[in-house]
Amino acid sequence: PALPAPEHGDGAESAMRTAITADVAALRASFDAGTTRDVSARLAQLEALRTGLRREHRRLTRALAQDLGKNGTEAAITEIGVVTQEIAHVRRHLRSWLHPSSLSLGPLLAPSSAHVRREPLGLALIIAPWNYPLNLTLAPLVAAIAGGNTVIVKPSEVAPATSAALTHLLRTWLDPGWVRVVEGAVEETTVLLQQRFDLIFYTGSAAVGRIVARAAAEHLTPTVLELGGKSPVFVDEGVDLAVAARRIVWGKFTNTGQTCVAPDYLMATPSTLEKLVPHLRRAAREMYGRDPRRSRDYGRMVDLKHFERVRGLIDDEKTVLGGTEEADREERYLPPTIMTGVRWEDPVMAEEIFGPVLPLLAVDGPDEAIARIREREKPLTAYVFTDRAAIEERFATETSSGSLAVGLTLAHVGTPTMPFGGVGGSGTGAYHGRVGVETFTHAKPIVRKALTPDTLRIIYPPYTRAKRAL
Ligand code: NAD
Repeated sequence: PALPAPEHGDGAESAMRTAITADVAALRASFDAGTTRDVSARLAQLEALRTGLRREHRRLTRALAQDLGKNGTEAAITEIGVVTQEIAHVRRHLRSWLHPSSLSLGPLLAPSSAHVRREPLGLALIIAPWNYPLNLTLAPLVAAIAGGNTVIVKPSEVAPATSAALTHLLRTWLDPGWVRVVEGAVEETTVLLQQRFDLIFYTGSAAVGRIVARAAAEHLTPTVLELGGKSPVFVDEGVDLAVAARRIVWGKFTNTGQTCVAPDYLMATPSTLEKLVPHLRRAAREMYGRDPRRSRDYGRMVDLKHFERVRGLIDDEKTVLGGTEEADREERYLPPTIMTGVRWEDPVMAEEIFGPVLPLLAVDGPDEAIARIREREKPLTAYVFTDRAAIEERFATETSSGSLAVGLTLAHVGTPTMPFGGVGGSGTGAYHGRVGVETFTHAKPIVRKALTPDTLRIIYPPYTRAKRAL
C-alpha cells in the first residue's frame, strides 16, 4: 500500500519556525548569561574557527568547486585566506581595540572622569550571498564574535554545497552557545527576519536589502547592508596599458565575474580603447588560454538563472572576445567576453552585470567619465588607471563610492586593515579588522563624578546673572 504523503506545508513550516525561535531563544539566553563577555573566550572561539578552517580545508574547497567551479588556489586566496588573515589580525589586536579610551568632559563638569567602552550588541544575524559564500559568511562572523555577540548565520541556498560545508564547519568547531546556523532560502529568511535581533548584517542584492531593512525597522534593529552596483573603470591616456589590462582582466574574470567589486564597465577615450583592446585580449589569453572552458582556473556561473541572465546581456555583434557562441548551457559556462562600441542605453548598462562580460564605452575624457559615474547610484568601488595625480584627485573628490582604487582592481578588498563597505546605493556600514569590531559593538561612554564636592550646583536654577555668564 502507498505510504501517506509526507507532511509539507503548514506542518513543516511550523517545525521550521519552532526550530528558529528555539535557536534565537537559546542564543539570547546565552548572551544574557554573559557567555561571550570574556575576551579570552572570544579569542578561543576565533582560534577554534581557524583550526576548523585548516582541518576542513579540503571539504570546503571541494564545495566551492562544486558550486562555482572555483579553482583551489583561487579559493585559498579569495575565500579561506581572507578569513584566516582576518582572524590572525583580529586576534593580534583585539585587546588593544577593546581597551577603553578615556576622554575629558571639560571644565564645567570637573572634577570628573569618563571613558568609552566597546559593548557587545547582543544577538546578531548574518545573511550571506552565494558568490564568495565562505568569505562573505565567515569574515562578518569573525567581527561578530570578536565584538562579543552571539550569532545566527544564514548561508546562501544558491551555493548549496558550500552552505552544507559551512554548516558542518560551524557546528563542529564552534560552541552552539555562540553561533548557530540556519540553512534555507526565502521562507527561512522570512521567519528569521520576524525575530528580534540587535544587528542584521546582510550581504547581497539591493532588492533583498530593502526587504531586510523593512523587516529590521519593525524592531528598530540596526542593519549593515553590503550591496553591489556597477563599479566603473576609467583608463586614462598614457598609462602602461599592458599592466592595466592584466589587472582589469583578472578583476573582471575572477570568479567568472560574479564579484560585487568586479570592474563592471570600462570607460576611456576612443584612441585609448583602440590601443587597449589587444592588451585585454592578450591578458585574457595569458590567464585562461585559448579555450578558457578547458582552463582549470576559470569558473562557472552559479546556476542556470544567472547563466541565462548574463548570456542575454551579450550582443555578439559587439564582442571582440568570447560571445554566446562559445557558451555552454550544460556546463553553465560563459566565456570571458569583451564588447566594444557599447552605448549607455544598451541592456548591459541597465543593471549590475555580475558575470564575465566587460563592456567598453567611449568617453571624451575624465570630465565625461566623472559625470557618468555621478549620474548613477554610488558604486561599491571605482577604479582609475592614471599617472596624473590631478586626475586621481578629481576622482577622489568629485565621485563618491565605497572605495576608490587607483592602479589595481579587487586585490585590496581582502585586506584586514581596510574598511570594506558601500555608500548610498552600494550599502551602509563597513567591516574587516578594527572597523568590523566597531560595527558589531556599541561605543558606550561611561561618565563618573563624585558627589562631593557638589560642583554641579553652579548649573542649577535659579539662573542668576552670575550663572548666565557661565
Ligand atoms: P540575494 O539578495 O539574492 O541573496 C542574498 C541572501 O538573501 C541569501 O542568503 C538569500 O537566501 C536571501 N534572500 C533572497 N531572497 C530573499 C527574500 N525575498 N527575503 C529574504 N531573504 C532573501 O543576493 P545574491 O544574488 O546572493 O548576491 C548578489 C548581489 O549581492 C549583487 O548585487 C552583488 O553585488 C551583491 N554583493 C555584495 C557584496 C558586498 O560585499 N558588498 C558581496 C557579494 C555580493
